[in-house]
Amino acid sequence: MTYAIEVDEVHKRYGDVHAVRGLSFQVEQGEFFGLLGPNGAGKSTLINMASGLVRASSGHIRIQGHDVERDYRQARRQIGVVPQEVVFDPFFTVREALELQLGYMGLARTPEQQAWLDELLDVLDLQGKANSRVKALSGGMKRRVLIAQALVHRPPVVVLDEPTAGVDVELRQILWRFAQQLHADGHTIVLTTHYLEEAESLCDRIAIINHGELQALESKRELINRHPYRLLNLWFDGDVSLPSALEGKRVAGQQSDGRTTLKLHKTQDNIGDVIEQLRGQGAVIQDLETDSPGLEEVFIEMTQRPHKQSQQGGEQ
Ligand code: ADP
Repeated sequence: MTYAIEVDEVHKRYGDVHAVRGLSFQVEQGEFFGLLGPNGAGKSTLINMASGLVRASSGHIRIQGHDVERDYRQARRQIGVVPQEVVFDPFFTVREALELQLGYMGLARTPEQQAWLDELLDVLDLQGKANSRVKALSGGMKRRVLIAQALVHRPPVVVLDEPTAGVDVELRQILWRFAQQLHADGHTIVLTTHYLEEAESLCDRIAIINHGELQALESKRELINRHPYRLLNLWFDGDVSLPSALEGKRVAGQQSDGRTTLKLHKTQDNIGDVIEQLRGQGAVIQDLETDSPGLEEVFIEMTQRPHKQSQQGGEQ
């Protein structure tokens, strides 16, 4: 079977910086795939290699079965990357900018293509601006043009690179609806984001990369279940000083609703024992609840592990 994206033993070195270190994984057709990792993990480098902007030092990437180097033309027609930065020529009108992009892709302006272009303008609420110069648009509107531009060729694989960083609530909602619609229409979606709750609500499978290496690649559920901790939220009657054995398990930060949160190991910490210890300290527990950790906790846990080679600098 053909994978949407196949990353095969890929390395990328920028001089001394080994940004991507032997990554291998596959994204299946029609998946909503999350690519997560802290700053400097190598996400953008990987995406730039997948879209043919950056050459891998070694290894192969295939998009819908097409090698991004050997079969560049075919490969780039299969993928649309919505970039973080606004990079287009601002002198054209919105429609011209999109038609130009079609030309870059080597595609003709067929009625079918025009219909898709109009659909993009509609969904992104850009129809009213189709004949305005891109230069004259607000930042949020320019961002929408950028999204439309990345998708003019109706690519089966759509990569959204931090699409909601710095956008307002309205655009964020339009974006998520759009991403879900594309997914429902059969497109493969790869999402990189810093907003873990977004990955948690949208993605089926999630890859966590750190220091250019794959740290985890699992379904969202498996990933969250793998986390060996659960949270115990407690509400006390009055002030309570925790026994020292429990103080180390307290999750830092004052909660606005007065709760104290303890991070307990699922097998090593027995909740009954914890409550006994608290009672022994004279604590009166008004209420309690347990909570499973979300992706955020799992992510922090996985990406804060020490690494053998400290991260190296380098300009992007
Ligand atoms: P992320 O997108 O996960 O934040 P990047 O792919 O941007 O990570 O960066 C990975 C590493 O590669 C970082 O150490 C970064 O400084 C380095 N890097 C990225 N692009 C370049 C470049 N053009 N030249 C030199 N180093 C780079």
